[in-house]
Amino acid sequence: MASYDKLGVKKIINAAGTYTKYSGSLMHKQVVIAMQQASKHFVDIDELLDKSGKYISDLLKTESALITSGAAAGMTIATAACIAGSDLSSIKNLPDANNLSNEIIIMRSHRNFYDQAMRTAGAKFVEIGNAIETFPWEISSAINEKTAAIAYFVQSDLLRSSVPLSKVIEVAHSKNIPVIVDAAAELPPSKNLYKFTQMGADLVLFSGGKDLRGPQSSGLMLGKKKLIDNCKKHSYPNHAIGRPMKLDKETIIGLVTAIELYLEENHDARMKRWKRQVETIKQNIISTPYIKIKIDTINQPLTQPSCIPRIFIQFHENEHNLDKETVAQKLMNGSPPIAVVIDKNTLNINPHMLNDGEEKIIVDKINNILSGG
Ligand SMILES: *Cc1c(COP(=O)(O)O)cnc(C)c1O
Repeated sequence: MASYDKLGVKKIINAAGTYTKYSGSLMHKQVVIAMQQASKHFVDIDELLDKSGKYISDLLKTESALITSGAAAGMTIATAACIAGSDLSSIKNLPDANNLSNEIIIMRSHRNFYDQAMRTAGAKFVEIGNAIETFPWEISSAINEKTAAIAYFVQSDLLRSSVPLSKVIEVAHSKNIPVIVDAAAELPPSKNLYKFTQMGADLVLFSGGKDLRGPQSSGLMLGKKKLIDNCKKHSYPNHAIGRPMKLDKETIIGLVTAIELYLEENHDARMKRWKRQVETIKQNIISTPYIKIKIDTINQPLTQPSCIPRIFIQFHENEHNLDKETVAQKLMNGSPPIAVVIDKNTLNINPHMLNDGEEKIIVDKINNILSGG
């Protein structure tokens, strides 16, 4: 049997977070068991997608739901559905969409490296606003007969230049335009599973392989029934833009199980554990005049979820020539390797994906490096 050890692949302590590069999150044991059971029988994938979607939409009190092979895949499919609807020849022609309504309106401050997933479906971005501010009238004046949808990245809500989602939905709906919400990493808090659909967002995407701890290559789409019915026409197993975004039966059953477990989980206890872990790290790193340590939450996009407290270490000039890059490199080169995040001014330790006790290993390693090791 293959294993990481057999292949010589190092097992990492993940103090970075649910980064895809570091394989996201670890599945619950029950998820793996459910997947194992699912692997023993053949089923019809359309039926499995329909019935799992129905089950999830009841659990999450939304009109409709669809499991995808990731939040990014969900963005491609959601965009495809908003551009080409249910017309078979348009579905087939994607990503050629020039003679369809293929414009996606997006705030400049919401652009990020995941939005290529929308262009994959043939979308053209119409950018509004700037780094400092965006006005609601810019949204309404950008809407025309070519508009397919408005894209909203929840993470960018941290920025002053972002119009709040409630306002975007209000403007979009006054002109009958759907809003696609990327909420891939917006868990915890678990209430976000309901929040954006209840606000009226038309299609909302979550990663299954981040805080939900379902299969790494799974995603969850929630939203309006009519749109999700169209999304199904664009997705696997149909021969459409979503066909390469394949989903196995095990993944589908695994994600449903992960959602069930997530709804029963004690999220306060998890938050307490994260707080305890960052406190342990802060209190036990040796104090030197050249580092400053604080516990804080993040305030910029692409480091979600924003509610989890982290350690921020700032380095000043010192005799060991230690800076954040050098320390991060030494941590990653150690045994076991420890993955952390390098920010503009700080080295960040995120407890989100730490197992109990790993905070002590991190403290030891950092202390060793700080004392010249
Ligand atoms: C992780 C992430 C995605 C992609 O999600 P997958 O489930 O890995 O496809 C998209 N958008 C944001 C903001 C993310 O953090």
